[in-house]
Amino acid sequence: TLIYLNGEKVDYENAKIHVEDRGFLFGDGLYEVIRVYDGKFFYLGKHMERLKKGAEQIYLELDFGPDTLLETIKKAVKESGFKDASVYVQVTRGTAPRQHAFPSNVKCTWLIIVREAKPQPQEFYENGVEAITVPDERWTRCNIKTVQLLANCIAKEKAKRAGAYEAIFHRGDIITEASSSNVFIVKDGTIFTHPANNLILHGITRFAVLELIKNNNFELREEPFSKEKLFAADEVFLTGTMTEVMPIVKVDGKIIGDGVPGKITMKLIEDFRKLTETVDC
Ligand code: PMP
Repeated sequence: TLIYLNGEKVDYENAKIHVEDRGFLFGDGLYEVIRVYDGKFFYLGKHMERLKKGAEQIYLELDFGPDTLLETIKKAVKESGFKDASVYVQVTRGTAPRQHAFPSNVKCTWLIIVREAKPQPQEFYENGVEAITVPDERWTRCNIKTVQLLANCIAKEKAKRAGAYEAIFHRGDIITEASSSNVFIVKDGTIFTHPANNLILHGITRFAVLELIKNNNFELREEPFSKEKLFAADEVFLTGTMTEVMPIVKVDGKIIGDGVPGKITMKLIEDFRKLTETVDC
């Protein structure tokens, strides 16, 4: 594990932030998780873009200079020596006496943690995994990748306790996304996923998979779909930086389709693998 805090390399024991850091007090910050495959960044530029957009939306000034973060990430990954890595990036509004309204003249806190990435068990991709559904109890600005993840953490814990891999959110009757991934379904050859609005995180993997779907000329509809439609789907899969493309074969104990990863899902898993071998931007 390699850590950079505010641009300085620090060892694990000395990687400390102040008790009045607004990330700690208010969850007032943003994060990204970026994957490195065999030394190649998987859409680092897109992650930086999303962070910048999020910062604008919460009036967070990224005061370390636009290239500094990018360069420090690259330097950190190089120094780590890890060919396959996950890079956790967090930026908070900084340290100031506790008050809800934003402080003036504070510097944001920025953190980079590089870890060796361990691929998930191959049998997950071959056999598929299970999910549960939970009410989406988050706020309505889910497109902002804030560190305030308590609702997501509770949902994932529920999945864990149920012996499932992931928790799929429904807002009323509509499936939005999952606790740390986006959700796709396939019905009669058409792929459905929730539109990229304020109710979901606009996943980088979601973006990459949409490109793969277009390249395959698969029918795609970015529109909201119901919980009922999820259960009636032929195929269900998740997308996420650490999740990649993950087939779901059971939801709330009910078998999806034939109970095995579907054809379209398998094709997208294969295409995604190839993409990770080529993309470096
Ligand atoms: N939705 C949520 C709620 C997430 O936390 C994540 C992963 N951070 C995703 C979707 C997937 O996004 P990405 O493909 O950029 O990892």
